[in-house]
Amino acid sequence: MTIYNLGSINIDHVYRLANLPRSGETIHSRDLSHGLGGKGANQSVAAARAGAHVVHLGAMGSGDDWVLRRLVDAGVDTNCIARLEGHVTGHAIILVDMAGENSIIVHSGANRALPDDTVTRDLTGIGPGDILLTQNETSLQVEAATRAKSAGATVIYSAAPFEIEALRAVLPHISILAVNEGEAFEAFAAFGENLPIEGMLVTRGAAGAEYRDFTTGEIHRQAAYPVKAQDTTGAGDCFTGWFAAGLARGENIPTALRHAAAAAAIQVTRHGAGDAMPDRTDVVQFLE
Ligand code: ADP
Repeated sequence: MTIYNLGSINIDHVYRLANLPRSGETIHSRDLSHGLGGKGANQSVAAARAGAHVVHLGAMGSGDDWVLRRLVDAGVDTNCIARLEGHVTGHAIILVDMAGENSIIVHSGANRALPDDTVTRDLTGIGPGDILLTQNETSLQVEAATRAKSAGATVIYSAAPFEIEALRAVLPHISILAVNEGEAFEAFAAFGENLPIEGMLVTRGAAGAEYRDFTTGEIHRQAAYPVKAQDTTGAGDCFTGWFAAGLARGENIPTALRHAAAAAAIQVTRHGAGDAMPDRTDVVQFLE
């Protein structure tokens, strides 16, 4: 069973500063690091490290080959990632002060300029048992979801960054909505508590996660594992990627939730987003 992930690929440039700049202020950075980010790439790496067969659909500018290498090293199939001349690779400028507060600029670049044939060409083989993962950081989500669902695949959509109109457009074409607590609140406010989909995955940070099965009315709750969190960037993506990988290998919901919570607990003890995703050995050891 394959997980196709139509998702963003970003380079995270992390600058550490004494304080965040005010309007008109110039500040010298104390440290600069570059990492793999973007909700799409993070989820692909998480699912691949969880052992799933993952095909990433997306786009980058030319150059930045280390990004592709990092996806390949994680086990992600990168053959459907387009290299677009005239577009830069998506990136985030992340400013972090000494207290850990941050300000972030995201430039979508190639992520929002996917070639129109991405969906028709790259989702030709999708079928029952396969999963389409997608988030709100690229173009073509509705087209991809429509095609995947009509082919009998399960479509998991992360409504982040949250945009009500984007969710409204994709909702009829998805199976599972994946959101954090704030996004869940907005989705319930707009669409009511019983969404016209199979289920909803809600993550609540250190308060854990739940899966609401709208077909049976059951709610499966999963506590977070107590750890000392260092950096929670990408925790939700880790959870969603691992959850999708669990479903792809036929795990039931409680098992998929447990593994995802363990993976996310490990991920928050490490620095970085995509580069911090644990693999199966890490999770097995953690749960021993
Ligand atoms: P997002 O990054 O999308 O806002 P959350 O903050 O809800 O997502 O975190 C996703 C999951 O990561 C949680 O459901 C939990 O399993 C795990 N997690 C997040 N923060 C912590 C923490 N401080 N301790 C343990 N697990 C955590």
